[in-house]
Order: sequence, then C-alpha cells, then structure tokens
Amino acid sequence: MITVCVIGCCGRMGREVVKAVTLHEKMRLVAGVDVVQVGEDVGIIAGIGELGIKVRDDLKGALLESGAKVAVEFTHPSATFENAKTCIECGVAPVVGTTGWTEQMLKELSELCERHNVPAVVAPNFAIGAVLMMKFAAEAAKHFDHAEIIELHHDRKVDAPSGTALRTAEMMLQARGRPFKQPSVAEPEISLPEVRGGLKDGLRIHSVRLPGLVAHQEVIFGGQGQVLTIRHDSLGRESFMPGVLLAIEKVLSLSGLTYGLENLL
Ligand code: NAP
Repeated sequence: MITVCVIGCCGRMGREVVKAVTLHEKMRLVAGVDVVQVGEDVGIIAGIGELGIKVRDDLKGALLESGAKVAVEFTHPSATFENAKTCIECGVAPVVGTTGWTEQMLKELSELCERHNVPAVVAPNFAIGAVLMMKFAAEAAKHFDHAEIIELHHDRKVDAPSGTALRTAEMMLQARGRPFKQPSVAEPEISLPEVRGGLKDGLRIHSVRLPGLVAHQEVIFGGQGQVLTIRHDSLGRESFMPGVLLAIEKVLSLSGLTYGLENLL
C-alpha cells in the first residue's frame, strides 16, 4: 500500500485526487492538507462520504504524523515550491501538478532531492493525451519552420500562459534544435497591444480564458500550402487522474527530480 497525503485536498483537482486514491486498490489516503475547510472530513468534501480524515493546515505535522510516503500537490503557484520543499525535507516524495514552476525553482528542487535522497515528480500536465500532444508537436517541430500555440482554459486559472504551453514550447524547441521562423512581415502594424500573444524563445503562445472551458491546447504548424493542427482537450478533471496515479505508483522507484509525465510513460 502506498500511503498518500493530498495537499490542496479541498480544491478542484485535490478533490479528484482524493477520490482516485481512495478507489485505488494499492493506495491509501492518510492525510489531507488545505488552507480552507480545516477540520472538516476530506471524504465529505470530495463527495465520497466520510473517510475519518480531517483537513489539516499544518503540512509538516500532517506529513510526519500520517506516515505518508507520497504527497500529491495541487494548490497555487505561490505555495507549490514551499510545499514541495517541505515534503522533501520530511522525506516524503512530492508529486506536483500545480503550474507556475520556473527553471530556477526546478533547479533548486532538484538539488534538494539529491541532498535529501528523496525523489519527486513535477508535471505541468497529467493528462496522457496532452503528453502525447506535446510529443507529437515536438516531432512535427523538426519538419515545419512556422508554429504557434493556442492554449484555452477555464476563467479561474491564475497563471498564463499555462505550464503545458510553456513545456510544449520547450519540447518543440529542444527537438528542433534551432528557432522557428517568424512571419514574412517582420514588423506587422499592431493596432491592438499584445494581439499577437507572447513569445517563448521566439515561439508565439496565445492564452484564451473562458467559463465553460477546462484545459485545451492547439499547436498549429504552417508550411507551404499546408497546415498541421495537433489538438488536445481535457473535458473533465478526471482526465488527469490516470497520470497522477501513475506518478504516485512510480515516484518511489525514481531518483532525483523527474519533470514531465512523458518521462514516466
Ligand atoms: P483550486 O480549485 O483553487 O484548488 C487549490 C486548493 O489549494 C484550494 O483549496 C486552495 O485554497 C488550496 N491552497 C492554496 N494555497 C495552499 C497552501 N499553501 N497549502 C495548502 N493548500 C493551499 O485549483 P485547482 O483547479 O485544483 O488547480 C490547482 C493547480 O493545479 C493550478 O496551478 C492548476 O493550474 C494546476 N493544474 C494542473 C494540472 C496538471 O495536469 N498538472 C491539471 C489541472 C490543474 P484557496 O482557495 O484558499 O486558495
């Protein structure tokens, strides 16, 4: 049995993780941490009935007293780094889904993993289809000189662009080994500021935020007389759970920091 703590257990993703872990035959939920609904039953909040586990707001105490071996973290970009650090310092392997991680944060976490000999997984997208979309986009990036990314998310997402879009851009640029070409009109007359989206190492990313959306992304490649569109849609938060469960199962057999679910498939 893998004992699991869920950090951010009252949030949209956290509640899904509580359900998925509770239903999994090889996992046991032992703690839930959040800054809201403290003292309430984690199972009632997740809509699966009483589990006898109360929401705590002291992460360190929850980790040390519950016997958790893995902590799944879906909170807020401002909290995720400190939470992951606390897990590692307590000898608990973090599986982090919160986005907003910078290269510097990843570097520091990786060093901490090595120092404490505790593995960790950070993945900007746990949906298997999204990971395949990123892989296919990386492959196509070798063959097309022009590309742009459009990511579309629900209107309560706090960061833009999405971690998935940034990771896709990184993978595309890495596979390509050289920058993408820019439109032939080098300096278009821009009549609306930022109408062309933002640039990640020369690759354009556009962020759409609307109620009704969950998590979607299109990578569009342009070539002579042809366009290739690679699109993925997460239609519900359950789409992330197979990837989260896979990471929980595998993390304890890894060493150091693993960034991106594609490395676990
Ligand atoms: P959410 O509904 O706002 O849930 C986050 C929960 O964490 C809230 O209850 C929040 O409380 C709580 N929280 C904030 N700071 C905390 C702290 N220091 N310690 C413990 N709990 C804390 O957000 P969500 O939709 O679940 O998304 C969470 C994160 O996951 C976002 O960054 C999102 O982009 C990311 N995400 C990743 C994936 C993936 O596949 N990797 C998929 C979907 C979402 P408050 O409400 O008081 O802030």
